[in-house]
Amino acid sequence: MALIRSWVDSANDPNGAFPLNNLPYGVFSVGGGGPRCGAAIGEMIVDLAACEARGLLDAGGTFAQGALNGFMALGRDRWDAVRARLTALLAEGAAPDVPLVPMADAALHLPIRVTEFTDFYASRNHAFNVGVLFRGPENALPPQWTHMPIGYNGRASSVVVSGTPIRRPMGQLRGGNGPEWAPSRRLDLELELGAIVGADSAMGSRVNVEQAEDMIFGYVLLNDWSARDVQAWEYQPLGPFQSKALGTTIGPWIVTQAALEPFRCTGADRVNPLLPYLAEERPGFYDLEIGWTLNGQVMGRTNYSVMYYSSAQQLAHHTSSGCPMRVGDLLGSGTISGPSRDQTGALLEMTEGGKVPVTVNGEPRTFLEDGDEVTLFATARGDGFRIGFGPCTGRILPARP
Ligand code: MN
Repeated sequence: MALIRSWVDSANDPNGAFPLNNLPYGVFSVGGGGPRCGAAIGEMIVDLAACEARGLLDAGGTFAQGALNGFMALGRDRWDAVRARLTALLAEGAAPDVPLVPMADAALHLPIRVTEFTDFYASRNHAFNVGVLFRGPENALPPQWTHMPIGYNGRASSVVVSGTPIRRPMGQLRGGNGPEWAPSRRLDLELELGAIVGADSAMGSRVNVEQAEDMIFGYVLLNDWSARDVQAWEYQPLGPFQSKALGTTIGPWIVTQAALEPFRCTGADRVNPLLPYLAEERPGFYDLEIGWTLNGQVMGRTNYSVMYYSSAQQLAHHTSSGCPMRVGDLLGSGTISGPSRDQTGALLEMTEGGKVPVTVNGEPRTFLEDGDEVTLFATARGDGFRIGFGPCTGRILPARP
């Protein structure tokens, strides 16, 4: 697929994140104005609320809201119509009076009101590596893992937008003589992609994988910050709790499913056939390079296509009990790790549980230290353009004992 040229010059930069092919949605504010919806184009933001006020497009007034939930709730036909209209308005040769704001002047906010947050565990490499560290190689991969997406119901209340500082948590840790109360000493990141559900499903109704695909509005970068020492002490038998509640950072830009469509591809090879309710009619993954930096140094880099379960399969499984989904539901993919050490999406794996330090800017390191800054990035590469997500960043603040 080739670059769609725009009259916004910076959108035609082959190394830019936001060509006209992308058009991710976000929520921004400038000066003393309130938050409203926008779309990124090159180094600018299209003020979608102002566009609608000028009659350039029709989104039922939802773009004046400080979250994209209202727009998402209008449904897929409206998503497609607005995307087509925006593409026409911004294409080279068009010269409408489209209100643009320099991205550098804008503050970016959480793009959605997160109604619920569920996090999964869908990279076989990650599940195996972490399983070895927590339970040994014999019990590393749980027996159900290749048959169903494993997840836990997380907290929507602790999801924050990129740039929000993350406080090192206090927690109950396993000590030599019984539990101790201390700052986490094994604070980690998790490199993930978050799927944003843009449609409701009714309680008691099951959604198949193809229907689930149609419910996904788009994707954000997602860092599922994790306190590994808290996790190791608390997680059996009901799974992670306070170890994952300290904060979850998402990127400010929702890259739509439509923008990623040209990059759709298959995922990891299946170990065994899946039950029919998890069968997919079309491949549910994307050829998306994804990675993370620590204090500016690239640490891990892999491809989203290493994953075993797609977001649509996770969503279908989520409704298998009749659990209703809501507009604004956020589904974390699970840590994205390839097979080799430099392809891992968490320090737990990269350092083999803290035993094998990595070098960061010349210093040996295991887990995150106060002041550290972690940034996630992702890119899909087309012919003469790339689809970027913008940075997803967080800096660690010291614990409050
Ligand atoms: Mn996670």
